[in-house]
Amino acid sequence: MSDTDGKKPLGLGGPRSGQVKQSFSHGRTKSVVVETKRKRVVAPPKPGTAGTGAATGAAHLGDPSKRPAGISDAEMERRLAALRNAKAREAGEAAQRAAEEAAREEERQRKREEIEAKEREERERAAAARAKAEEEERARQLAEIRASRAAEEQKRPAKTEARAPAATPAEEAPARGAAAPGSAKPGLSPRKTDRERDDRGGDRDARAKAKGDNDRRAGKLTLTAALDGEGGRTRSLAAMKRKQEKARQKAMGFGQKAEKQVRDVQLPETIVVQELANRMAERAADVVKALMKMGMMVTMNQTIDADTAELVIEEFGHHAVRVTDADVEQAIDSVADKPEDLQPRPPIVTIMGHVDHGKTSLLDALRKTNVVSGEAGGITQHIGAYQVTTDKGAVLTFLDTPGHAAFTSMRSRGAQVTDIVVLVVAADDAVMPQTIEAINHAKAAKVPMIVAINKIDKHSANPDKVRTDLLQHEVIVEKMSGDVLDVEVSALTGQGLDDLLDAIALQAELLDLRANPQRPAQGAVIEAKLDVGRGPVATVLVQSGTLKRGDIFVVGEQWGKVRALINDRGETVGEAGPSVPVEVLGLNGTPQAGDTLNVVETEAQAREIATYREKAAKDKRAAAGAATTLEQLMAKAKADANVAELPVIVKADVQGSAEAIVQALEKVGNEEVRVRVLHYGVGAITDTDVGLAEASNCPIIGFNVRANASARQSANQKGVEIRYYSVIYDLVDDVKAAASGLLKAEVREHFIGYAQIKEVFKVSGVGKVAGCLVTEGVARRSAGVRLLRDNVVIHEGTLKTLKRFKDEVKEVISGQECGMAFENYEDIREGDVIEIFEREEVERKLA
Ligand code: GDP
Repeated sequence: MSDTDGKKPLGLGGPRSGQVKQSFSHGRTKSVVVETKRKRVVAPPKPGTAGTGAATGAAHLGDPSKRPAGISDAEMERRLAALRNAKAREAGEAAQRAAEEAAREEERQRKREEIEAKEREERERAAAARAKAEEEERARQLAEIRASRAAEEQKRPAKTEARAPAATPAEEAPARGAAAPGSAKPGLSPRKTDRERDDRGGDRDARAKAKGDNDRRAGKLTLTAALDGEGGRTRSLAAMKRKQEKARQKAMGFGQKAEKQVRDVQLPETIVVQELANRMAERAADVVKALMKMGMMVTMNQTIDADTAELVIEEFGHHAVRVTDADVEQAIDSVADKPEDLQPRPPIVTIMGHVDHGKTSLLDALRKTNVVSGEAGGITQHIGAYQVTTDKGAVLTFLDTPGHAAFTSMRSRGAQVTDIVVLVVAADDAVMPQTIEAINHAKAAKVPMIVAINKIDKHSANPDKVRTDLLQHEVIVEKMSGDVLDVEVSALTGQGLDDLLDAIALQAELLDLRANPQRPAQGAVIEAKLDVGRGPVATVLVQSGTLKRGDIFVVGEQWGKVRALINDRGETVGEAGPSVPVEVLGLNGTPQAGDTLNVVETEAQAREIATYREKAAKDKRAAAGAATTLEQLMAKAKADANVAELPVIVKADVQGSAEAIVQALEKVGNEEVRVRVLHYGVGAITDTDVGLAEASNCPIIGFNVRANASARQSANQKGVEIRYYSVIYDLVDDVKAAASGLLKAEVREHFIGYAQIKEVFKVSGVGKVAGCLVTEGVARRSAGVRLLRDNVVIHEGTLKTLKRFKDEVKEVISGQECGMAFENYEDIREGDVIEIFEREEVERKLA
């Protein structure tokens, strides 16, 4: 008895009830078990009650001492059945729901299932009726047994009595439960029953049916049931699990509309499939599947447009929230810094001045001073900027690219990095055009200047002339009682360099430059290149925040994750704070000098912003009429093939000059020849430019910019011409001359003869040959010909043959007969006229 509280229904009820009702009863018992289960599942709304009831029953059963030996046997069986029921239901409930959902989702499947369900329902109804009858019968029998046993075992009548009523509600509760929801939810209940049935596995159905249907088979089943009653149950549980799993998977597959969390999916203009899946919290594979269903063969990494994405989002039952393009940029942290978070930062210095006044020399000298006095052992790395520490400990950051390029390219892109301009003026040369330009740039940017009067070592040096000259341009240096610091230096001898550094430090102090290092980094690209070994590399000057390894960022139209940071001494560093220039590795593409780098939170954001920017830039270029890709160029060139084009690539120091040059160049030419600016940009000439130039066989024009070392090298290798200019007029003149070379010589046409087609022959190997009479002038083999039919030109081309009798001749004169065949043209008819003409080419020049 004590092992009856083990959960084995066979061990418990089998032999005993069998004793009571033998095989018949045994079989029935089984069938009743099945039917009871089914019945209880029909009662979904009170799982708690049923569970509690079952639990209570179990608790009682678990205590053999309290259990009366006789009555509880059958009763116990029912209770155990109830317990099993409750457990099975509990276990299966969640997954069943999923299965239901899935089934509900899939219309076809539902239809199929409905048909099945109807059949099943009928079967079930019959089975239920039978089961009911059986149960009633059994109840009667049990009552009889109970009565007889009660009579027999009168030793403990009170307990028996007590047990019986206690048991009744427990076993009847599910039945009542079944009745209640059945009436309350008529629509739901039958379906659930079907589902239940379906889920519980057909074998039990079949068994129940078989038992009900056929006594003979029921007898047979008793044997099998005896053998695998337990195994059968286990199997069906496993089957159920499998089924649930299957249903769950199906439900995951498509259209989880019902009962899922409906999300608002932020949808930009374009979105990568994977990202779309992430935003919907769906599996990417499912999204790909859904797209395939829509006829779009894409991979997870491909980008789809917003319209398509919206369809997908709807398909999955979510809401698409279109974000306007620029919204994606909001991912960039633009919270203003609190004053207390701001820390002093080194100034960023740009050296400007006229060519040959010693900018490069000065930069080198300053750098060397520091390297020698510093600890780095003389190894320097040209990354576009470097830092110098003065004797007094002030740190200064110098932009390594002299001239206006570095300074103004940033400015034109809205990223003003320079804090102080050092205006280099050669003491032996005084103020020159580019000096004035530099002054104007600095003034426009409202950046304070420090005048470095260079080449002071020279005998011809006249620093005071420089000072007075500067007065004309409203630069009043200290010595002229102004407030512009001026230092006499010699890049060559190193004289005055420390004074210059001090002056810069002083100026910086006056500016009180501050930045918040404790925020996502923002910086400006001062140089970018595609390094053979390291991939795209950008030198970034951090402006605020701290750039760390592992940071995800967007920079211009590119994005990336910081793989490594290398400082100006070639050392790998973990982070770079404000005003620190670092080489950043880990970009997905080469950005442009002047691009702003922003650290964002997720890769998806970075990618999205980059994609958005790329598209915006493309649109802008397209709107400006400039072709963007070579393919487009080709297509465009083909579209107007009669216009000769001189393609050029323009790189300039500032956006403003780039645009001015492009405009000027596009004006060059006429309806026959034109200059096509394939690409223009701001900043140094890079490998990318050289690549494009090579591909399109065009020169690169650098206006106040130079090619970086690797671009220079590859241009040499590839034979790409790079021309440097600093005066727009020179540039335009040169391009004009080049374009004139392309100008088609003016072609003057002379008619030299006419011929009439008298007959058309077919000559094997030659095709159609016109037998003609030259009516006017001469027919020349080398001349151009037109075929006129009723004075309408129907073909223009050249001759394949010109025959006089059997011989190929060069010329046939008027009055003679000849044979002519056109190159690549056969449609010649008797009566057509052939016009023979020659062209003379006259060289021309662009105005
Ligand atoms: P940039 O075109 O302004 O960059 O000028 P560079 O730095 O290339 O210098 C132009 C020329 O001036 C070079 O030949 C230098 O050697 C020379 N140079 C530069 N600084 C000095 C200096 O302080 N003294 C003398 N004597 N020559 C200098």
